[in-house]
Amino acid sequence: MRPVIIAANWKMNTTPADAGELAATIAARIEEPDVVRVICPPYVCLSAVRQALAATDVAVGAQNVHHEPGGAYTGEISAAMLSGLASWVILGHSERRRDQLESDELIGKKLARAVAAGLRPILCVGEQLAEREAGRAVEVVGDQLRGAVSGKDVETLMAAGFVIAYEPVWAIGTGRNASGSDAAAMAEAIRATLYTDLHWGEPAEVVPVLYGGSVTSANIGEFLAEPSIDGALVGGASLKPDEMAGMMATAAVTARARIAASGKAG
Ligand code: PEP
Repeated sequence: MRPVIIAANWKMNTTPADAGELAATIAARIEEPDVVRVICPPYVCLSAVRQALAATDVAVGAQNVHHEPGGAYTGEISAAMLSGLASWVILGHSERRRDQLESDELIGKKLARAVAAGLRPILCVGEQLAEREAGRAVEVVGDQLRGAVSGKDVETLMAAGFVIAYEPVWAIGTGRNASGSDAAAMAEAIRATLYTDLHWGEPAEVVPVLYGGSVTSANIGEFLAEPSIDGALVGGASLKPDEMAGMMATAAVTARARIAASGKAG
């Protein structure tokens, strides 16, 4: 049984002065232990958010990590620096691919570094609108996966709790979401790439695949109704306690149905 995961990407929002209070407010509204919950604030807010969530089972994640262990990299943050502050990390977000020109090769190095440091990675993949319209979405996402994951030890990745987030670039922050069935088709294509091209075997079925791109409390049900989608990576709506509460209520129903189904199967 795959878990249901809701990950909040706060992007470049909140400050150390207000992030803790927001995290505490949200945590009080998302007390659903059947759902894996993680909040990823900006680096400078990690400490405040961690403190605010200390008495909860909501995890804290970073939004990026450097691929080198340390050294002359002005303004960067290493995996070791995140120790005690974050247990998850988002990698390869399309905004970083766009703005910092992160390549699949670089993201693969970050993935290795994060896993070695004991961070739970969420690897983001997703196509541009023109690529989808040209019928190349599966090929593009497959290339991103192969570029970041090839050569990595599957057992090590799975032991680290590897998660993939399918985030079509045209759906991020635009208010335009993919359809549930398109997202599910891509989740299945992702698993097929892992199984066939990367020879993952059974872990290809076990790895959680999230959808991200303008997810809200109003549309999350469409994604969670798809058995191949295991939750959401949420940007804008994750800053709103009411939205988080609404999304979590739907996620909890899905998580409990999965738990019940796995009990019957066992
Ligand atoms: C994201 O930041 O990963 C994201 C999906 O953003 P939004 O929900 O705002 O589209």
